[in-house]
Amino acid sequence: MKYETLLKEINSLGKVSFIGTTTLGYKIPLVRIGQGQPKALIVASVHAREYITTILLNNLLASYRKKIAIDYVPMLNIDGVLLATNGLSIVKDDCLKDKLLKLNGGSYDFSLWKADINGVDINVNFDADWGKGAQNITYPAPENFIGNAPESQLETKSIVKVLENNYPLVAAYHSKGEVVYWGYGDNYNHYLYAKKYADFVGYELTKSHGSVGGLKDYYALKYQGLGITIEVGEDRFSHPYPLSELDNLIKKHTGSIELLAQMGEEIGHLYGESYTTS
Ligand SMILES: [Zn+2]
Repeated sequence: MKYETLLKEINSLGKVSFIGTTTLGYKIPLVRIGQGQPKALIVASVHAREYITTILLNNLLASYRKKIAIDYVPMLNIDGVLLATNGLSIVKDDCLKDKLLKLNGGSYDFSLWKADINGVDINVNFDADWGKGAQNITYPAPENFIGNAPESQLETKSIVKVLENNYPLVAAYHSKGEVVYWGYGDNYNHYLYAKKYADFVGYELTKSHGSVGGLKDYYALKYQGLGITIEVGEDRFSHPYPLSELDNLIKKHTGSIELLAQMGEEIGHLYGESYTTS
């Protein structure tokens, strides 16, 4: 995967702006699709090896009808995805190369990497019971390292700032398992909406257990809307999710963005003017 290709693909989807810069210096894009106040935020590729979520959403959004405005962050963990798909060739700094090689157990195959380029797992780096997760670890690794502090990573900081737009609905895309996780802490609001979405794509709806510090967790703690994590793809396939299965994923999810946008609009109405965006 190439950064320039990503930019080219998303340029045709809507108006692109940038919400921050990664450790390797890539600007993190946000695409605003449609006119007016966005009713939902969609985030893909939080975990490096799960970049099929970016490919899936780029496809789905290319045929989105655009009646309801939505914001889309196609690849939050750009550095990680580039590492997982290109290996160490994307890293210029020799010290960083050595460090990554060590973290990866001496292997040049980074295809199973989940973390960012610092060995921090972005989806346990949010300020939501940070460090209390069952699988959390406290040293850099391909996955599960919480970082030295909540929101220590540039990617985490960037998306936390975007969330200040107070979206009625936030959907974070991961892979895999055909599961939808919703809510966190005291916010299990909007069950019927979460169920409606899960039924639409034919996935199981469940609360997450033992998992904290994620994007959906942070959003659900801090805001009143519906926060969901969507695990796309069947568990019988291994990581990284095979591209040969893309067509099946697209079929399964066709119409689901329209549904999320519609739900975001309706949830926004429940809160009236409290939902304002910059
Ligand atoms: Zn994930």
